[in-house]
Amino acid sequence: MKGKYDFERRFREQILQCSRCGFCQAVCPVYGATLRPALNARGKILLLKEVMDGKIELSDELIETLFQCTTCASCEVNCPSGVNVPEIIKQARKDMVNIGSCHPAFKGMNEVLQRHTNIYGEDEAEDFDREKKEKAEVVFFVGCVGLYREDEATEATLDLLDRLGVDYTLVDEVCCSGVLEDVGYKINEDLVKRNTETILSIDAKKLVTECPYCWRTFTSVPQYDELRRNIEILHITQFLKDFDFGVKTEKLVTYHDPCDLGRHCGIYEEPREIIKKIAPNFVEMPHNRENSLCCGAGGGVRGAYPKNSLAMARRRLQEALDMGADVLLTECNSCVHNLSQVKLRKDRIRIYNTTQFINELMEEME
Ligand code: SF4
Ligand code: SF4
Repeated sequence: MKGKYDFERRFREQILQCSRCGFCQAVCPVYGATLRPALNARGKILLLKEVMDGKIELSDELIETLFQCTTCASCEVNCPSGVNVPEIIKQARKDMVNIGSCHPAFKGMNEVLQRHTNIYGEDEAEDFDREKKEKAEVVFFVGCVGLYREDEATEATLDLLDRLGVDYTLVDEVCCSGVLEDVGYKINEDLVKRNTETILSIDAKKLVTECPYCWRTFTSVPQYDELRRNIEILHITQFLKDFDFGVKTEKLVTYHDPCDLGRHCGIYEEPREIIKKIAPNFVEMPHNRENSLCCGAGGGVRGAYPKNSLAMARRRLQEALDMGADVLLTECNSCVHNLSQVKLRKDRIRIYNTTQFINELMEEME
């Protein structure tokens, strides 16, 4: 198909299908934070149509519109015309990078991952005082956020696996590098190779991760083909859903569906099955499952547009507070991290990964 840019060659029909109905405006977290119609899904698609029509060129002037998207997919699931906005945005970002136009934060992320093995450019990963075994039933893959920013949450998850008697090992993991695909660059094949070789060297039956983004990358990106051909890859909620934890809480608990686990991977029920075992007083927020509100951390927005990212997190946290919840659970270290940055009635609500919360309940019972 003809076209100057790849986004046009790949998505021309979808862009033309946009009827400008505006259904996406109400659900776009970036619009919610900025109230700027140019930044919602419709605004982005209209802009790309103008590029296709030759009225404007891709240039630095489009950076703010095209790079300010959490790739949350709320627009996609609510679009009556079947426009896959996040995939179109991701391709347009690649086209922007190809012509040398990129948000500096995204450019920086790519540079860091060409030189370091994690998105923070840190030298040393936490080892959590766990022996790295040569053989185990399960390889537990932490992910960058859990290794370098939410290490308390990771420690608690590992404690829970210990309490449940799981035969697991940590490995010398490196960033899955899937995020590069979201911010306009290509996945780092060297990092893919290192992860694949390291994980498969353990000869484990299962690869389990708590990070929805790593899970999504391992299970869907073509470069990880060899990995998924040779090991079963599970999100921790899929792995833990049949365990009996033997603890309960009377607290009012609610659950935030991470975009990457929910809308992108369709994992809605396993986290709820686990939570309902331990929290009889579970309440859903009005925006749940497919309609969950984005926490604002994804698509590189937390790094590039921190103020707007926090505004999105505030809106999500407010919904949990409005339910009167004592505890907000989720299944993603990025969500925990972003939601925890909001200074909003912190005394009223605790924010955890579900594993961290279950571990705390088990610890209290001992
Ligand atoms: S919901 Fe879909 S068709 Fe409607 S304006 Fe948004 S992208 Fe276009
Ligand atoms: S993916 Fe999310 S942030 Fe991006 S345009 Fe769609 S609704 Fe807005």
